[in-house]
Amino acid sequence: MDFHLSEEQKGLQKLARDFARDELIPNCAELDRLPDGEDVFPWDLVEKGSKLGFNNLAVPKEHGGHGASVLTQVLVIEELSAGEAAVSKVYSHNWKGISGILAAASEEQIARILPDYVKDPRYCIGIGLTEPNSGSDNSVPYDKKISAGPMLSAVRDGDFYVLNGMKHYIALSAQCKYISILARTDKTVPWTEGVTGFMVFPPQDGLEIGRLHDKVGLRLYPQNEVIVNNLRVPVSDRLGEEGKFHSSRKAVVNIGTVEATATALGIAKRSYELALEYARERVQGGKPIIEHQIISTLLLEMFTRLEASRSMLWRSACSIDNGIDDDPKLARVTKAFTVEALNYIATKTVEIWGGMGVMTEAPVEKVYRDAIQLFHMGSTNQVNLMKAMPDL
Ligand SMILES: Cc1cc2nc3c(=O)[nH]c(=O)nc-3n(C[C@H](O)[C@H](O)[C@H](O)COP(=O)(O)OP(=O)(O)OC[C@H]3O[C@@H](n4cnc5c(N)ncnc54)[C@H](O)[C@@H]3O)c2cc1C
Repeated sequence: MDFHLSEEQKGLQKLARDFARDELIPNCAELDRLPDGEDVFPWDLVEKGSKLGFNNLAVPKEHGGHGASVLTQVLVIEELSAGEAAVSKVYSHNWKGISGILAAASEEQIARILPDYVKDPRYCIGIGLTEPNSGSDNSVPYDKKISAGPMLSAVRDGDFYVLNGMKHYIALSAQCKYISILARTDKTVPWTEGVTGFMVFPPQDGLEIGRLHDKVGLRLYPQNEVIVNNLRVPVSDRLGEEGKFHSSRKAVVNIGTVEATATALGIAKRSYELALEYARERVQGGKPIIEHQIISTLLLEMFTRLEASRSMLWRSACSIDNGIDDDPKLARVTKAFTVEALNYIATKTVEIWGGMGVMTEAPVEKVYRDAIQLFHMGSTNQVNLMKAMPDL
């Protein structure tokens, strides 16, 4: 594989790196520590980044976006996440939402969303799948249990569906102008055959944004409950055929996995750089601690895991771009590997920073708090490995 990047890719990578250094790192740490999570959404920064093109990066050219390849998306997410992973997630979550819409929606439906999205630097998209009783079950369909999967119901009533139930952990649901809600249209079959997607444009009667889930990390990337009470959705806003959500989702699932992996890689890069910087500056035993072999060996171990993750991620991204999909398990094991690497690197950074590693005045504890979020985004490590197993 040729690891040379094109001039355009290098340019976008630099744009993201500069934005991370000049805007995200100086401004986000303070926002992240505000005690009330309700106040922290960084609208101004999101808008600034959108004006540089980040929100539209993954939107295909024919719909007014940049049409970036998956590899280019990964390069940009890594740089942005090394500045502030939560802001990076706002963009990449929106890209994931767009991929889902493009896979499931009709031309007419796409024309009702994408022109507004590309014009509006504050446009966010929600994806409403997880419920209090269905998390990993929504990603591990092979056991075919009827009781598993989403239970928020959609019942046909003439030209409408009436939706009732609840979602939780839904990213950007309090900020979004559009949300895809996944609802059970048939409870007599497994969810893979009985879940349908619906287009919803908040604010709307019957749709209430519930409490904010106050997280320890990625605090600028918020999740809320979504409560649906007799929400009437016209049949014309159904995404694809009834019961066919799972088949359209299969087309985009690897993109979501790669996107979460790139976020993990960016946090790991920031963590490694902080460890290296501190090890060069901190003097103990009469010399910078990097000159103690036990510390430099640790740094090399961190570097190796970082580079191995990046190589696997680039290969996964190229595999999607080339349409080869030569090994479907690659993206899944890469995510599990990278999240483990990230959490190793973040923990070792805390160790290298000594007592300062756990002080809120220093940047390291935030990296550590952000790192653990990645265990649960883009499916858990266990779920990714379980889904990789049949491809062995
Ligand atoms: C920051 C963040 C953002 C999110 N954003 C969204 C969003 O925008 N939209 C959305 O719909 N959801 C979102 N989620 C939800 C996310 O997809 C779920 O949290 C995730 O799928 C795990 O589900 P769960 O939390 O219910 O954990 P559970 O499924 O209850 O898992 C608990 C543990 O059991 C393990 N486990 C589960 N099933 C099995 C099994 N069959 N065999 C072996 N082990 C198993 C898991 O790996 C995990 O270790 C978000 C979550 C987070 C943390």
